[in-house]
Amino acid sequence: MSTHNFETLRGAVIDASLSNKWANAVQEWQVVGVEEDQRATGICVCGKTGLVYLYTIRNQQTQQALFPIGSSCINHFGIEELNTSVSALYRLLELRAAFADQKHVDLTSEYFSRAMLAYLWENGAFPPNKYNQLNGENDYDFLVDMFNRHREFTKMQKSKVWVLLNRTIKDFVMNDERLGQLVQQPQGDDEV
Ligand SMILES: [Zn+2]
Repeated sequence: MSTHNFETLRGAVIDASLSNKWANAVQEWQVVGVEEDQRATGICVCGKTGLVYLYTIRNQQTQQALFPIGSSCINHFGIEELNTSVSALYRLLELRAAFADQKHVDLTSEYFSRAMLAYLWENGAFPPNKYNQLNGENDYDFLVDMFNRHREFTKMQKSKVWVLLNRTIKDFVMNDERLGQLVQQPQGDDEV
């Protein structure tokens, strides 16, 4: 399996950017999606084969997109915000798979992180409704508070967390177009 070729990457990125200097060009991009390819047939824009997690990045100036690109190549941009997006999107894929497999999802670091909760909030996962006084930020603040808490939840906190995870966040994640198509894991009888 070949490794990421950062020279090829730089060429592709600069070609699709406004700036022709790498240090400036990297500032123009955002991570806008990820798909999972369990057969690992993806080829990174840098030429690396065998990609499983296929990210899409979009240039905010030229509106050009690059796909698929691997996380190592995105990390190579050296932009903290892009790295945060990569790990948040990866966690969203894991969370969606857990919901699809009807696994029990708790508000713990198994599926969540502070960065991921922030990412959910910034991307519209908490719509205004009568339960959050028409301000989704109240739901977000509540979940961050509960996530940081190391004591037992009260009964009311527990049921509010359950609704936010299994209704609000689940609805958002199951319909999040940035995650590509849901690939169901084969259940049991694997083909030989
Ligand atoms: Zn690459």
